[in-house]
Amino acid sequence: MSKNDNVERVIIIGSGPAGWAAAIYAARANLSPLVFAGRPKSVPTTILPGGQLMLTTEVENYPGFPEGVTGPKLMAYFEQQAVRFGTRIVTDNGLTPDVSNPDDGHSHSYHDCASVDLSKRPFTVVGEDEKTYLAHSVIIATGATANWIGLENEKRLAMSGGGVSACAVCDGALPVFRDKELAVVGGGDSAVEEATYLTKFASKVYMIHRRDELRASKIMAGRAIDNPKIEILWNRSVTDVLGDKMITGVTLEDTKTKGASTLEVGGLFVAIGHTPATGFLNGQLELDAKKYIKLKDAYRSTTSVDGVFAAGDCVDSVYRQAITAAGMGCKAAMDAERWLGEQGIE
Ligand code: NAP
Repeated sequence: MSKNDNVERVIIIGSGPAGWAAAIYAARANLSPLVFAGRPKSVPTTILPGGQLMLTTEVENYPGFPEGVTGPKLMAYFEQQAVRFGTRIVTDNGLTPDVSNPDDGHSHSYHDCASVDLSKRPFTVVGEDEKTYLAHSVIIATGATANWIGLENEKRLAMSGGGVSACAVCDGALPVFRDKELAVVGGGDSAVEEATYLTKFASKVYMIHRRDELRASKIMAGRAIDNPKIEILWNRSVTDVLGDKMITGVTLEDTKTKGASTLEVGGLFVAIGHTPATGFLNGQLELDAKKYIKLKDAYRSTTSVDGVFAAGDCVDSVYRQAITAAGMGCKAAMDAERWLGEQGIE
């Protein structure tokens, strides 16, 4: 089968380490990949351009950067490298932007993917503007998004910029949080990281955790316990968020005694894990119980649908690292290239 100009050889959905690494490999294999990079939205974001690394500051464990690199800069480098080899990005005006300056903010006109039809080949990918694209193969690299407690006032104040956030690194430095007492919910590495980060700006940070032991790794847990600006409130869950336009506090329940209390805070940061961005697949790919995409073979990127490959945090609930996601993106591009070759698609 020769190349049909109306059908993309590979569409990549997602633009975190997995998506861009897949794009670099696919582009260098002359597949001219087309990327749905996502669009920054208010809460909740579906695909965040650049992925979760956009919500972090210094990345010190990505090999090749002995002095560390910021998450957004690392992703800008990935993108630059992908575009340099011929990756195209779905945008408002249809043109892949000039991404040669990694300090430019150029992600605003990128498009989300609204839905896919994986029931027949070529596959159909529908953009947020309802424009449809056909593809011989698809790589899903949509990552995972932050979880919320699920309280009405939490959502209302998060949506209105009322001092509730799922990302301390994005919002913590805002003037509204300066020198205030703030709270972080959660007991994992993210909660510790967010609480530690917030101590730079806040007068005090409460970590609210529903158990009497942190889930965070020992070294991270130690950082929270030893930080004089962090107080951990053990065995507490947040039952309501108080405040009209701006948060004034939270109500807490003691998970052991069921006793209620109120804590006055000027900001609430929710750090209780993530959910893979797989809802748009509408059950067309096999998922596990936590909604992560199931790989057909754990060592490959193959999914329950032939010609559809998956990589990064939408697959991986265990490692969730930039380096592992990038490695998976590489595998997905190589798998797609081989699969296209087997189908006789140039
Ligand atoms: P996580 O490890 O799944 O921890 C989630 C935390 O939120 C847990 O403490 C959990 O409580 C709590 N939680 C979950 N649902 C809740 C709810 N509805 N109400 C109240 N609390 C709730 O998630 P994470 O901290 O985002 O970390 C995810 C992965 O990324 C981990 O593998 C972590 O090691 C990694 N990570 C690493 C770093 C680093 O090394 N620098 C930084 C961030 C993340 P329970 O403990 O009771 O389940």
